[in-house]
Amino acid sequence: MKFWWGLALAVALVGCQSPPSTPFVAKPPEPTVPAEPERTPYTQISMRAQDRRIPVIMYHDVIAKRDRNSQWFDCSVDEFRAQMEFLKSQGAVPISVQDLYDHLTNGKEVPETAVVLTFDDNYQGVYDNAYPVLKENGYPFCVFVHTAFVGKTEGLHPKMSYTTLNELLTDPNVTVGSHTVTHPDDLSQLDIPTQEQELQISKQELETNLNRKIDFLAYPNGKNDETTQGLAESAGYKMSFSIVNGLAEESPSIQCVSRYVHTRLEKAWEDRQRAMDGGGGGAIRMPLKSDGTISLKIEEHAGVRLAMITGGTPETDTSETRESVLQFIQRTGAQAGINGTFFAMAAIKSTDNRLVGPCKTPTMPEVIGDTETTRWEKLRNRPVVLWSKYEIAFVPFQPETMQTDAPFKDYMPEVQNVFMGGALLVRNGVPMDRKQLMIFGSRDVMDARRRAALGVTMDGQIVCAATRESATSAQFATALAEAGVNNAVLLDSGFSTSLVFGEKIIASGHSTASEPSRPVPHAILLRGTLDPASQVLAQQNELRFVPEENRRRRRRQ
Ligand SMILES: [Zn+2]
Repeated sequence: MKFWWGLALAVALVGCQSPPSTPFVAKPPEPTVPAEPERTPYTQISMRAQDRRIPVIMYHDVIAKRDRNSQWFDCSVDEFRAQMEFLKSQGAVPISVQDLYDHLTNGKEVPETAVVLTFDDNYQGVYDNAYPVLKENGYPFCVFVHTAFVGKTEGLHPKMSYTTLNELLTDPNVTVGSHTVTHPDDLSQLDIPTQEQELQISKQELETNLNRKIDFLAYPNGKNDETTQGLAESAGYKMSFSIVNGLAEESPSIQCVSRYVHTRLEKAWEDRQRAMDGGGGGAIRMPLKSDGTISLKIEEHAGVRLAMITGGTPETDTSETRESVLQFIQRTGAQAGINGTFFAMAAIKSTDNRLVGPCKTPTMPEVIGDTETTRWEKLRNRPVVLWSKYEIAFVPFQPETMQTDAPFKDYMPEVQNVFMGGALLVRNGVPMDRKQLMIFGSRDVMDARRRAALGVTMDGQIVCAATRESATSAQFATALAEAGVNNAVLLDSGFSTSLVFGEKIIASGHSTASEPSRPVPHAILLRGTLDPASQVLAQQNELRFVPEENRRRRRRQ
């Protein structure tokens, strides 16, 4: 960018001194995706983090040997060593809490198999028993300290002193965070001034005694609510941890990041793998190529007859009343289209137009969230599709953190279209298999029905595809990949399936004479010029609907 400006300036100056005999015409630079403007750092869990799934593990004391005084949450040094060996055998790479923060909020690149190790309650056993193992492996870790207990040596579980903590902190792999002053059983149950004291005084005391900023907090017993989260943020904590078995990127808030208890380490690793397989960790972002010519193909792939429309400029639209895709096209002047996303009230006569998942069309000023919290968990990790004029992305959905404009704008500043797909069908050219599709748990994924998809080819052309006959999602995914679709999501299928080229209905899941394709609240429309050869093909393959009275007449004959 700077180079071009410099060059333009130099040319302008030269021009002043001696005007060239023929007018100088600068070659315009190739149109490209505009450089992303300088970003304000994001401070919430970002969509940029959705290409990883990181388990944060919580330990307490690490003891020399288990005996009858041991607590369930103690970990013996042998058990600890075995856990570190397990992580190593899985190729896990421990990262610091600071790296976790930078990844969660701004998508810092971290290893695909990252894991975070944390220790609550400041036990001397961490220094005596865990640290040698951690140091030997060069593993970063974080200790959460409740300041009223620093240096307490009485009892079975002595706590580290500031001298010991300062010694630990000479190792750049060590981070210290706050665990409040007195370790209240449930911080969120205390009155606000007391909560503030617990959060602020512990932070100040650690900062004074350890001579550094304290940015991270672990709630005692993991207990917190939205008020407590707000107080933690106001107190200056950048990130806070709960104790909910869950992966960091799927946490409800940066002030409530999930952690697994260490006894569930293997479960945590399994959850991670499952999330990655099911579409979590599958964020895809690529340039979108707008081609003026819209063409139609009807081909058989993997035993499925596919109708595919490629090219054109895609945009989404919603209907106040529900319309057929043909009506959408007639109303907006678009040239082709396909039915869009899933909607809440699927009954054909229903007029309730609430869509499932977040939604934005070019005419909406902001993203509209999905407020139906009862279905949020079912939607987690389903692909959200978003695009601007220049690029398209498929991001695993997180219901708590992707419901407003801010995360979308942070991820793609010029985003114009947002909706949720039913499942990722093809990822980077590879079709999802039955097992992967079942992770989403949608009951009908393996039913044979007419199916619809939105996809993109490897060179960034949009593809609207539908099956001409019934197929399962896995068959559809295989067929799409074979047809050269590089990434694709499932659209609402069955009765809603409707692919229209020009004014010809090429695929439909619903056919009565009065409604040759079913009215839907959301559609994806293509603008451009219809390819003439494709228009002939559309004419030949148009689904014709016999009006009801003609049918009756035919029956009588
Ligand atoms: Zn604790």
